[in-house]
Amino acid sequence: MIEGSCLCGGVRYEYDGDIEEISICHCSQCRKAQGSAFAPVSPVDSARFKLISGADLLKEFRSSPGKARVFCGNCGSPIYSALDDRPEVKRLRLGTVETPFACSDVFHIFCASKAPWLDCDDTHPHFAERRP
Ligand SMILES: [Zn+2]
Ligand SMILES: [Zn+2]
Repeated sequence: MIEGSCLCGGVRYEYDGDIEEISICHCSQCRKAQGSAFAPVSPVDSARFKLISGADLLKEFRSSPGKARVFCGNCGSPIYSALDDRPEVKRLRLGTVETPFACSDVFHIFCASKAPWLDCDDTHPHFAERRP
């Protein structure tokens, strides 16, 4: 079981599944949404993702049509994003995960938009845009 929470602790969730891939997104929207150089994101099965507390705190922002970026309205932690036409999948922001886990499929996407001050030459695959 994967457990996580936002910075203020108001939003808590559990995921009864495995983290099978991690995309580290360097696109300009993710950089702004996280206030960071990139966003580590994993797809999770909505049916196995359970909000334990904080449903009333969740807010969403739509940076693109059809895509909600969901965050804690109290502390601002990004929790997940979701596409309107794919409700069965959420894309979890891994910075909020508390449970230690390992994942062998880690890759960088939208490297063409990477922050210019960041050296990003680790051994994971790098893609200019999405993974083909
Ligand atoms: Zn919070
Ligand atoms: Zn992105």
